[in-house]
Amino acid sequence: MERIFIGVAWPYANGSLHLGTLAGCLLPGDIFGRYHRMKGNKVLMVSGSDEHGTPITITAEKEGVTPKEIVDRYHEEHKRNLEEFGIKFENFTRTSNYFHKEVVKKFFLKLYDNGYIYPKKIQAFYCEHCQRFLPDRYVEGVCKYCHGKARGDQCEECGRTLDINDILEPKCKICGSAPVLKETEHLFFKLSAFEEKLLEWLKDKDYWRDNVLNFTLNFIKSGLKDRAITRDLQWGVEVPLPGYENKRIYVWFDAVIGYLSASMEWAEKIGKADEWKKWWMEDAKHYYFLAKDNIPFHTIIWPAMLMGHGGLNLPYDVPANEYLTMSGEQFSKSRGVGIWLPDIVKKFDPDTIRYYLSINMPEKRDTDWNWADYQAKINNELVAVYGNFIHRVLTFIHKNFGEIPPYVKGDEKDEEVIKEVMENFEEVGKSIEKCHFKEGIKRVMRIAQIGNQYMNASEPWRLIKEDVDRCKSVMHTCARIVKILAIASAPYMPRAADKIWKMLGYKNSIHNCKWDEEIEIDENKIEKPSPLFSKIEMENIMEDPFSKLDLRVARIIDVKDHPNADKLYVIDVDVGEIGKRKLVAGIKPWYKKDELLGKKIVVIINLKKAKIRGIESEGMLLAVDENGKAVLLIASAKEGSRVYVEGIQPNPEKEISYEEFRKIKMLSKGNAIEYKGKLLRDDSDIIKIDRPVKDGYSVR
Ligand SMILES: [Zn+2]
Ligand SMILES: [Zn+2]
Repeated sequence: MERIFIGVAWPYANGSLHLGTLAGCLLPGDIFGRYHRMKGNKVLMVSGSDEHGTPITITAEKEGVTPKEIVDRYHEEHKRNLEEFGIKFENFTRTSNYFHKEVVKKFFLKLYDNGYIYPKKIQAFYCEHCQRFLPDRYVEGVCKYCHGKARGDQCEECGRTLDINDILEPKCKICGSAPVLKETEHLFFKLSAFEEKLLEWLKDKDYWRDNVLNFTLNFIKSGLKDRAITRDLQWGVEVPLPGYENKRIYVWFDAVIGYLSASMEWAEKIGKADEWKKWWMEDAKHYYFLAKDNIPFHTIIWPAMLMGHGGLNLPYDVPANEYLTMSGEQFSKSRGVGIWLPDIVKKFDPDTIRYYLSINMPEKRDTDWNWADYQAKINNELVAVYGNFIHRVLTFIHKNFGEIPPYVKGDEKDEEVIKEVMENFEEVGKSIEKCHFKEGIKRVMRIAQIGNQYMNASEPWRLIKEDVDRCKSVMHTCARIVKILAIASAPYMPRAADKIWKMLGYKNSIHNCKWDEEIEIDENKIEKPSPLFSKIEMENIMEDPFSKLDLRVARIIDVKDHPNADKLYVIDVDVGEIGKRKLVAGIKPWYKKDELLGKKIVVIINLKKAKIRGIESEGMLLAVDENGKAVLLIASAKEGSRVYVEGIQPNPEKEISYEEFRKIKMLSKGNAIEYKGKLLRDDSDIIKIDRPVKDGYSVR
């Protein structure tokens, strides 16, 4: 028996969970935890809602509610989604509760007493209009390195952590005015003191994933800087030192301590207050599951904090995943790219989602969520191979015997097939232990294939008439394979596995049985089986026709008269990374050439190309039709950025026809454009109509 601690990165309580979080940390953690529990190991798996930090206070200010209302809303939603997707924690808690805050304060004081926290005066952004300091997300500006959008302490484009000096053209997020620099005192964590110790600790971590180890080593070798761990805020964990009453502990510092506080809280909840020590102070392996953007916090900052505290176990492995993308783009709530758990659970069986994410897990490189591929994998693998094998075995047994038949007349073929199945079964376990989850689920599917081949070759439908004893033995062997298959898939598809278990006539839950359970099958009576999964039809796929459009911001760089038409212009536009495009547009009666130059407009770039009076148009600009007049739509983000509506992830087709485009009904609403009640926008702002118009004009 081993003790296994599993820490899963804390989902942020500022929005719904999306499939990226499921694939990146929740699902791998859950597969790992379920396997080890079945293996008979003592598992303590914890996480919770990360409820502090400026994105939450900004959302609250925007909505005119308290931060508590925001985090209560999302914590409840997260808990419900975890239940629906079968993610099993020993404790899923939250950072805003009293218990956590007290643990953080004690941890903080221990580091302070050990000399790893010290005060330092620094310059910080201060808004004179709002009369407050502007921590993290309260400042927006331009990133010094890539000229992308800097959101406080991080650049949205290049992902760099930013200092105040790295933010050009800073603006207060609340009132928009330019902040000044003002002196303030903060507490710093002496991260620089841990360079040598961390490198020493990493020496025997050659079993880590290459990307995680290399990233960590490079990060340390480029020099560790001390980090400010307090902020000028009211929402967060109070600083347990006098003179800092108006400051709070930095969200990242408090969230990682959550792994410890959630363990302690779990021990309290089960009525054995010291039980957590068995995982944190005695022999136990600590695994952390997270996506790659969280690597430094788990391989550098948290280990350094643990070293500074002393007496607590350090991470054993940090098998961070790469990203799950959506048509090649990173999931992003604000850009409308993604699939959210509360939406997808309404339409699809969570075990099918777990299956697809397991077989497509971003372990070594980014992988893409693709609806057609999801449909194909569920229908051709999960339904046609796995589900089909189990269903035909159980149906045959139920119809002909009513119970699992005894093994009466053997054949060496039976031993061979069981041997092959067991080899694959053992590989499932080994793969999960190494956090190679994709390999593990492939082995599960291999077992189903072997079962199908064995059944086909044995022809029980012939034997039932010619040799009943042999038929019983074949079906007994098939039932054993079904049993092994149920156990092997339990960590991946917990509900389906338990359903198979019950259909095999067992009364307990599969999750209480052991991984190394003897592979004999009991001669249980069985009920009429029902299919495990049903085929996914294309119309169930949750793609809105709008997602087919490839809409981009384009800047007009040249306008000429069309040589063969009075009302047409030939317009050259710059679409950023996409390149330049030539458009033929009928807007000459309403726009002069110099009015058009430099305007940022919205262009469909995947519309089927068409020759218009002899000149090929490589796209179409969007305008509204106002009493027969064309009025352009105006964008504000940089050239080449996507134009989208919130909540619909762009998944553009290579080419769409004009007829398809016409079916997508957009309407003007005030000065904006609406599609299904949501506004058309780019990364900076909503798309506006070139001049005030009334509601109801359709986009052409
Ligand atoms: Zn940048
Ligand atoms: Zn301000």
